[in-house]
Amino acid sequence: VPSSNIRNFCIIAHIDHGKSTLADKLLQMTGTVETREMKEQFLDNMDLERERGITIKLQAARMRYVHNNEPYCLNLIDTPGHVDFSYEVSRSLAACEGALLVVDASQGVEAQTLANVYLALENNLEIIPVLNKIDLPGAEPERVCREIEEVVGLDCSDAIYCSAKEGIGITEILSAIVQKVPPPPDTAERPLRALIFDSYYDAYRGVIVYFRLIDGCIKRGDRILFMASGKDYYADEVGFLSPNQLQVDRLNAGEVGYLSASIRSVADARVGDTITHYSRKAEESLPGYKEVTPMVFCGLFPVDADQFHELRDALEKLQLNDSALKRPQVPWDLDLDVVSLVFFIWKLFRKGWNVECSNPSLLPEAGNRRLIEEPYVKIEMLTPKDYIGALMELAQDRRGEFKEIKFITEIRASLLYELPLAEMVGDFFDQLKSRSKGYASMEYSFIGYRESDLIKLDIQINGEPVEPLSTIVHKDKAYAVGRALTQKLKELIPRQMFKVPIQACIGAKVIASEALSAIRKDVLAKCYGGDITRKKKLLRKQAEGKKRMKAIGKVDVPQEAFMAVLKLE
Ligand code: GDP
Ligand code: MG
Repeated sequence: VPSSNIRNFCIIAHIDHGKSTLADKLLQMTGTVETREMKEQFLDNMDLERERGITIKLQAARMRYVHNNEPYCLNLIDTPGHVDFSYEVSRSLAACEGALLVVDASQGVEAQTLANVYLALENNLEIIPVLNKIDLPGAEPERVCREIEEVVGLDCSDAIYCSAKEGIGITEILSAIVQKVPPPPDTAERPLRALIFDSYYDAYRGVIVYFRLIDGCIKRGDRILFMASGKDYYADEVGFLSPNQLQVDRLNAGEVGYLSASIRSVADARVGDTITHYSRKAEESLPGYKEVTPMVFCGLFPVDADQFHELRDALEKLQLNDSALKRPQVPWDLDLDVVSLVFFIWKLFRKGWNVECSNPSLLPEAGNRRLIEEPYVKIEMLTPKDYIGALMELAQDRRGEFKEIKFITEIRASLLYELPLAEMVGDFFDQLKSRSKGYASMEYSFIGYRESDLIKLDIQINGEPVEPLSTIVHKDKAYAVGRALTQKLKELIPRQMFKVPIQACIGAKVIASEALSAIRKDVLAKCYGGDITRKKKLLRKQAEGKKRMKAIGKVDVPQEAFMAVLKLE
């Protein structure tokens, strides 16, 4: 197929508006997959995705479609639908010339849809509006068309009404793709430039890279160079996705495909990187590549110190498959000496004196606190007007700084806030959903670091500081958090043979305090005079129980207590 008969497009849709169902129908109608071999929702082929109902891995599919007796090659590039993947979305949009904007005709435009539409417009994509679910009795495609015109400024006079579920409007969509989406330019003679929009780790073949050829061509056996990582490899295998991988000898400018080259780590071939030839290098890489900056930190400790190496191996494997996962050189051994318990923490901050710090226990004592900065995000919430008050309260409660309110239609508003990332990573999204009865949606982006009045809150059990329980909190929230934490710990830590004080402190100052009263517990008391095997069994059980505890001083602390830090939020 000449490049003039290629169309590269993606589907932009809010979660549940029908992207996967439509993609499946397009694959079926073009005969790309037989109905009998269709699993439900072919494009979401990761189990994890199906479990969570979100598309987290980008996939692509090449379809053949005959329009006016002319064969066309349509490449569908799937985009992740979740708020956390805006960079990946932007890279897959950059691999396309057009996008279907799918909006549920019984709902309307959502915050995420908007953000992705703007990304598509920035990438100069031709956008085809599609009103889905017109089979529903509550569908109001005309109203939703007006909403799209008002909010996005997109002409909807040619919008396609469709029901992905019932198969209505699918041919119209395929024809519109051929007629409206521009073909890729024919630049096969230029030096190779291919944009990576996804990659994954295959245990047998190494990293599999998905890419769009912008310029030049690529052949099996070529020596290739990844321009950002600087790594070079020989392409063992090149091919296209249909949606299964099919090998070919050569791919040309405008095409979408995959390659494998015994690449050992996803970090060598990151999303957004440019592939070129080792011996005929492109002068410039493609624009838009970004290094991932870690925003959320998580300390992981095995319950059993003996399992440290297994944990490390598991993390290494995970990292091979996900280049966004960074495993910093945490002083693991040091941490493990301190405590060998499962413990997660999501705290985000850095010190002002050019040292970044992702572990509260490494933060210097109070006094230097005016130098602490934390990451901030800008969030936009779209909500029916009835929930404006509830959402403003939520944002204010999370140290949100009000920026703007806009009515996008008479009944729907957009709220703009800036707030600390730390206040958003917990249950903010759940709260937004529950306070708006599921009707509001949100979108966020990182806007930089800001100085905050943060302090380190320490916990002492029986007079001993427990480092993994240290948290970073805003000064105004320290007392409330300290009180809640000590109370929670009192519930979770079993009583001991002696009285145990549980204290929350800022520096040397105790701000909240609880005490566990003493108890004397003798497991053998109940079977006084009983048989020896029973006694042994009880003692063994007690010993097993102890293994899951961490002794802090003389106090055994169960691992649930270490989770308490998280569950407070
Ligand atoms: P995605 O999250 O955008 O991929 O949405 P899905 O394709 O998974 O669809 C979400 C839900 O809407 C599923 O239960 C689909 O069966 C349903 N759905 C999708 N398209 C239609 C449609 O045209 N009509 C109706 N009634 N339901 C649809
Ligand atoms: Mg889906």
